[in-house]
Amino acid sequence: MDLSGLGEFGLIELIRERFASIPSHGCEGIGDDCAVLPLNTTESMVVTTDLLVEDIHFLRDRITPEELGRKSLAVNLSDVAAMGAAPVASFLSLSLPPGVTGVWIDAFLAGYHALSTQFGVPLLGGDTTSARDRLTVSVTAIGRAENTHLKRRGDAKPGDRIFVTGYLGDSAQGLQDMLSGRDTPFIALHNKPEPFVNEGIWLGGRNEVHAMMDISDGIASDLLHILQMSGVGAEVSLDMIPTNTPIELAVAGGEDYKLLLTADVGAAARLAEDYKAKFGEPLYEIGRIVAGEEIRWLDCGNPVLLECEGFAHF
Ligand code: ADP
Ligand code: MG
Repeated sequence: MDLSGLGEFGLIELIRERFASIPSHGCEGIGDDCAVLPLNTTESMVVTTDLLVEDIHFLRDRITPEELGRKSLAVNLSDVAAMGAAPVASFLSLSLPPGVTGVWIDAFLAGYHALSTQFGVPLLGGDTTSARDRLTVSVTAIGRAENTHLKRRGDAKPGDRIFVTGYLGDSAQGLQDMLSGRDTPFIALHNKPEPFVNEGIWLGGRNEVHAMMDISDGIASDLLHILQMSGVGAEVSLDMIPTNTPIELAVAGGEDYKLLLTADVGAAARLAEDYKAKFGEPLYEIGRIVAGEEIRWLDCGNPVLLECEGFAHF
C-alpha cells in the first residue's frame, strides 16, 4: 500500500480505522489531546505521548540541553492540561547518538527536573538506547481528572465564544528568527514554552467550558479539529487575536502551546472575569462557534480570505 501521500492526519486516520475493531473497554483513544482511560465510575486517567526528533523538532546547536529537557516535558503537560486534567507522572525515553556527553545529559535532566518539580510530576520510567546519528526524545505523560471535568475537542456548540489563553505567533517568530540567524527575544519563547497546567485544571472545573485543546500547529489547523469533531463552524476575528507577530504566524505558526477553548455564550463573560481574577491574565476572546463546518475569518467585521494551513512537522 502506498502511504506516502497521506500526510500526518491521513496516516493517523488510517491507523485509527485499522485498530477500530478491537474493543476499547470504555477507553477513548486517537483523536484528542490525550487518550481517556476510566479509573472508576467518577474519575479517569489521561495519557499522551510526544516525540521530539533532532533536525525535525529541534536543532541541537540552537537550543540548550536544559531548554530541550524542559520543553520535552512541557509539550506533554500541555496536552494533559488541554483535557482539563492534573498531571500525575511522566515517562522519558532517550535515544542518544555518539557525541552526546555526560555534561549534555546532565543539563537536559536539569531542565526536565525543574519543570517536574514546578508541577510536582514524578518521573516513573522510560527507556534508553543508543542511536546512529540523530537524538530522539520521547515523553509520555499521565494525568487524572473527574469525568465531569474532562474537556474534549468534540463538545463545542453553536453560539459558544472562542478563547485563547495567551499571545499567538511568538514561538513561530522565534523559529524564523533562529533560522535566519537573528537574535531576538522570540527565540527564548520558542525554546521555553510554559504549559498552562494550573489554568487547564481550573478550566476543567468550569462547566461552561465546552471544548478545549492546546495549540500546537496554529489555530488555522487546531480550531479545525474542534470544528470537525463537534460538527460546527466558527467565525474568528483576526483583529481580536492577541499577537506581537504578523497575523500569518499567529494563526498558522506552530508550537504556541496556549489553550484554545469554547465556552457557553451565557457564561463566557463571567468565565473570563473569574479567570482574570484567578490568574491575573486575560482569557482572550477571538470569535464564536456557528453552524457550519469551516472557519470564517473576519477583520473588523468584514470577511477576509486567509490562505494558510497549520504548521506541520510531518
Ligand atoms: P497533539 O498535537 O495534541 O499531540 P497529534 O496531532 O500529535 O496531537 O495527534 C492527534 C491524535 O492522533 C492524538 O490523539 C494522538 O494520540 C493520535 N496519534 C498520533 N500519532 C499516532 C500514531 N502513530 N498511532 C496512533 N495514534 C496516533
Ligand atoms: Mg495537543
